[in-house]
Amino acid sequence: MQIPDTFREKMRELLGGEYPAWEESFQNKVHSGLRINRRKADPDELKNRIPFSLEPVPWIDNGFSYDVDTAAPSKHPYYYAGLYYLQEPSAMTPADRLGAKPGELVLDLCAAPGGKATELGARLAGRGVLVANDISASRARALLKNLELQGIGNIYVTSEEPAKLAGIFPETFDRVLIDAPCSGEGMFRREPQMMQFWEERPPESYVPVQRSLILSGAAMVKPGGYLMYSTCTFDWEEDEGAIRFLLHERSDMELCDIAPYDGFHEGFADADLPELKKCVRIFPHRMDGEGHFLALLRKKERAVEIQEHRGKKSPYRAGKGVIPEAAEEFLSEIRREFKRQRFYIQGEQLYYLPEGLPVQPGVRYLRTGLLLGSIAKKRFEPSQALAMNLRMEEYPRCIDLSAEDSRTVKYLKGETLDVSDVVPARAKGYHLVCVDGFPLGWGKLSGGILKNKYYAGWRWQ
Ligand code: SAM
Repeated sequence: MQIPDTFREKMRELLGGEYPAWEESFQNKVHSGLRINRRKADPDELKNRIPFSLEPVPWIDNGFSYDVDTAAPSKHPYYYAGLYYLQEPSAMTPADRLGAKPGELVLDLCAAPGGKATELGARLAGRGVLVANDISASRARALLKNLELQGIGNIYVTSEEPAKLAGIFPETFDRVLIDAPCSGEGMFRREPQMMQFWEERPPESYVPVQRSLILSGAAMVKPGGYLMYSTCTFDWEEDEGAIRFLLHERSDMELCDIAPYDGFHEGFADADLPELKKCVRIFPHRMDGEGHFLALLRKKERAVEIQEHRGKKSPYRAGKGVIPEAAEEFLSEIRREFKRQRFYIQGEQLYYLPEGLPVQPGVRYLRTGLLLGSIAKKRFEPSQALAMNLRMEEYPRCIDLSAEDSRTVKYLKGETLDVSDVVPARAKGYHLVCVDGFPLGWGKLSGGILKNKYYAGWRWQ
């Protein structure tokens, strides 16, 4: 597909002497990567167990690139164990450089399908809260799947208008990510057909929504907290232009330095706003990434009056600690301390709420915390999300198969398994099925035969 002339000219003006190298990059192979889930595995240790060749992404400590001609990471049981997320290397940068610390309140405002939210969630290490939002309900469902597959339980997944969230969560979050919808110019090497879409829907058409998003996002950052704005486009108005707009609208926001890397290009500054240089540009002719823009901002301490409904109580009560006996019995076997006040029952579903941010009325939630399981007819059925959230050592009855054992893929396809060679003769009931020590899902054992309880919607295709 031909690069549109107007786009070519715009890039020539932006890049000056670097333009020919950028244009030449269209002849090179696209970059493919995976990011190891630090919630489940140590990147240095796991990379040696993954049976295909990986090269470190030099600016991301848990990022690796692979060759699509020799590796198929989505066709390996480790993918189903949530041990990594497939992500183009430059797209790993915003969540990495925003960071998140255990115990913090973090919001990803445009989160689907979860490439950045899964990293932010992993960094919370089970403490604090990740609110992952996407305005599109169908995309938010894909986001939920990815968060659950990666074993992240301290989440609220919402599908809301960002301006509405800003009214509900003023100055609430330690860190906010806005990975804005954009004209996607950084994706053109990978998906040339997007160039046609670009001509139909040009960069300027995204500017109003980006400005509205950045204002909503900034309103939800705590004083002293951070906002990362990112796009996968090169257009100045969508990138530095959005930051210029925010700095003009909010004197309490300031640009911060981003941890450097040799290949990064500084932001393109205006003469009257030199600090725009603190933004980061990723270009495919300078480093092994397709293209991204990042700007990290901080809200100055106490620059804005704290709004009165900050910290308001939720009218929804978490459980009083009373849960049905069958659930109580099941959970008592898990080697983990559950705080009773965090149980939350809705219909037949039992959830474990995150700590630090109550459920709010009027918000469209797709998930409130970790779905533990369902309670029907006095029986408790543990959820797929719970299996993914556990470590093998936390459950007393596990069936640990190797990635090479043909039963592993059969399990992921939903088949019944004969596991009589790996379980004691009289073992029965729920078992956690694992691959090389990492949980995949549940099965119910009787007489050496394992009835498959792997979530049907996630089966190996
Ligand atoms: N952060 C995601 C990731 O890494 O996987 C990619 C996000 S994508 C660039 C932008 C997302 O913004 C889309 O999923 C889209 O549905 C969502 N979006 C578009 N308009 C929005 C709006 N007004 N509010 C919130 N999300 C919006």
